[in-house]
Amino acid sequence: MTKILVTGALGQIGSELAEKLAQIYGSENVLITDIREPEQNHLDIPYQKLDVNDEQAIKDIVINNQITEVYHLAAMLSATAEKYPIQGWNLNTNSLLTFLELAKDKKLSKIFWPSSIAVFGRGAAADMTPQEEVTNPLSMYGVAKVAGEGFCEIYHQKYGVDVRSIRYPGLISWKTLPGGGTTDYAVDIYYKALEDKKYESFIGEGTALPMMYMDDAIRATIELMQAPKEDLTIHTAYNLQGITFTPEEIAAEIKKHISDFEISYAPDYRQAIADSWPNSIDDTQAQKDWNWKPEFDLDSMTVEMLKHLKSKLQ
Ligand code: NAD
Repeated sequence: MTKILVTGALGQIGSELAEKLAQIYGSENVLITDIREPEQNHLDIPYQKLDVNDEQAIKDIVINNQITEVYHLAAMLSATAEKYPIQGWNLNTNSLLTFLELAKDKKLSKIFWPSSIAVFGRGAAADMTPQEEVTNPLSMYGVAKVAGEGFCEIYHQKYGVDVRSIRYPGLISWKTLPGGGTTDYAVDIYYKALEDKKYESFIGEGTALPMMYMDDAIRATIELMQAPKEDLTIHTAYNLQGITFTPEEIAAEIKKHISDFEISYAPDYRQAIADSWPNSIDDTQAQKDWNWKPEFDLDSMTVEMLKHLKSKLQ
């Protein structure tokens, strides 16, 4: 019997992933948790408050609810972690170790924990960044993700823990706002296009970043978690490519639907983080090991984003 715990479940990814997990496994077999209270639990999935900085609270919730699998999404994202580096480091590393320890002690059978393209930095090829590439990140967030990948590999190799991970690119969605990442501009731009017909981008012209539509990211996560264990060869985190574009390319795509839309540029501290990240990702290994293939491109994602946001903003 699969009993799933989702941490950070009210965030950009968690809110959509929990819904999908509830459809697959049944709402009664999913427990959503967050440090925040839900505004409304429209999903009808059981909720409990959980601060993942509280090691004992994590242990209690796993044992008391006979949890078998965890999707550990609670984190401090890249832009926020630059402002609060110590809190970011502690949150992004300690809680993962707590879950890995529970799995080592056979209290959990499977863990999903997301890494990020932020693991790359100095010395890494920017175009089609390979799976096995140097990871010298220039952000505190990236340093914590590299550490996390290392923990996953060690717990897998030494203790046989089944922990699976993806280096998500920047994720674009309309249901829940992003929570303080460097790629948030690619969500903001759609809102501002519909509301004001103009957008001032905090990421500069010509900055290409790897991105992905949320539907693809959720499907990737579930496909990876359902893949046969023996097929998986990467025990740090899988590279995953979706769509690469620059601010002017996404603006041009939006202009096809909103002809008087205008973009301007005012890069801020997030530009330095973006400059240290890849432009595109080589995900050959994910294709080989679990048949990964994205479905959305910039064109189809823009159609979906504008359609859904238009009705949401009415
Ligand atoms: P988010 O900021 O939208 O959501 C994170 C959630 O964690 C929030 O609901 C927040 O309330 C909760 N949280 C914060 N501190 C907590 C604590 N101490 N205890 C419990 N909950 C706490 O983030 P997201 O975009 O959903 O990201 C989820 C994971 O995916 C993170 O590990 C993030 O690093 C990773 N990731 C996200 C992206 C992206 O573009 N969204 C890209 C790469 C990796």
